[in-house]
Amino acid sequence: MTKILTVGEILVEIIAATKGDGFREVQPLTGPYPSGAPAIFVDQIGRLGFEAAIIGRVGEDDFGHLNIARLAADGVDVSGVDVAAGEATGCAFVRYRPDGARSFVYTLDGSATATLALTEAGEALMGSCGHIHIMGTALSVPGMAGIALQAVDRVKARGGTLSFDPNIRAEMLNKPSLQEKLMGLIDRTDIFLPSGNELFHFTEAADEEGAVHELLSRGIGEIVIKRGDKGATYFAPGAHLDVTAHTVEERDPTGAGDCFGGTFVALRLAGEPPETALRYANAAGARAVTEIGPMEGASTRAELERFLEDAEARR
Ligand code: ADP
Repeated sequence: MTKILTVGEILVEIIAATKGDGFREVQPLTGPYPSGAPAIFVDQIGRLGFEAAIIGRVGEDDFGHLNIARLAADGVDVSGVDVAAGEATGCAFVRYRPDGARSFVYTLDGSATATLALTEAGEALMGSCGHIHIMGTALSVPGMAGIALQAVDRVKARGGTLSFDPNIRAEMLNKPSLQEKLMGLIDRTDIFLPSGNELFHFTEAADEEGAVHELLSRGIGEIVIKRGDKGATYFAPGAHLDVTAHTVEERDPTGAGDCFGGTFVALRLAGEPPETALRYANAAGARAVTEIGPMEGASTRAELERFLEDAEARR
């Protein structure tokens, strides 16, 4: 099958174990957990047994080694992960407020992620992978954005395909020229994976139906709208499929969209029909939220099959 490449942030996450208004109230903290949306995406693909690789940069520290070890153990090609002596691996502190909303403290700007430079191994991956996946977060880091867009150019020029998850966070929106980069990518996208209202960053349409129609007529092949505990919807020219979310105990929602996206893209590239890819992706997203730690709930194919069989038996 086509090898799937992504470019993006690799970091660790330290999580407040309980909900509360401040870090003092939510002790103890738990972690560090391997994280970074693009890293979770490829880790999920690796766990499914498909080929994936990531171009990124970590510090030569325990956090960096933790990430590389996890990705490699799950079968991800980490040859494009540069280990920078004297720099620190990015870190995110996550706290859940009493209403369940997340509050993040990031140390990405001063981390190894911010100084990503293209290595020979990264260049070789751009020249060999047949699919590239880009997340909006990668475009919000200036040096990384240039490399991500170069990877898109290289893969698409050889007839490869692009999937795009805008993954827009409030703190990204005041970064200059990000909107321009997001808009530049959308018209080259084959599989578009927005969450909820992210669709409206890319069109002036007044409602979802209009937005989907406009984006499909601009040439996007497939759109999957992720709707959290409401499930997901698939659109392609002449096709519309809905899945309802599975009922699970949500312990940590971070990473659900990446596990969903990694599963959907890998299965579509492996030739599975949209119905199957959507069903497995919906199961992968549901399983992801049941584990604390963004990458901890990534699933193997056998785990997804068992989960789907159990869900079927409960109906
Ligand atoms: P993102 O993190 O990108 O915003 P979502 O939160 O929409 O993505 O999650 C992606 C998918 O994971 C959803 O479309 C759904 O299939 C599944 N999912 C997410 N949260 C839950 C939940 N609480 N219960 C069951 N499934 C969920």
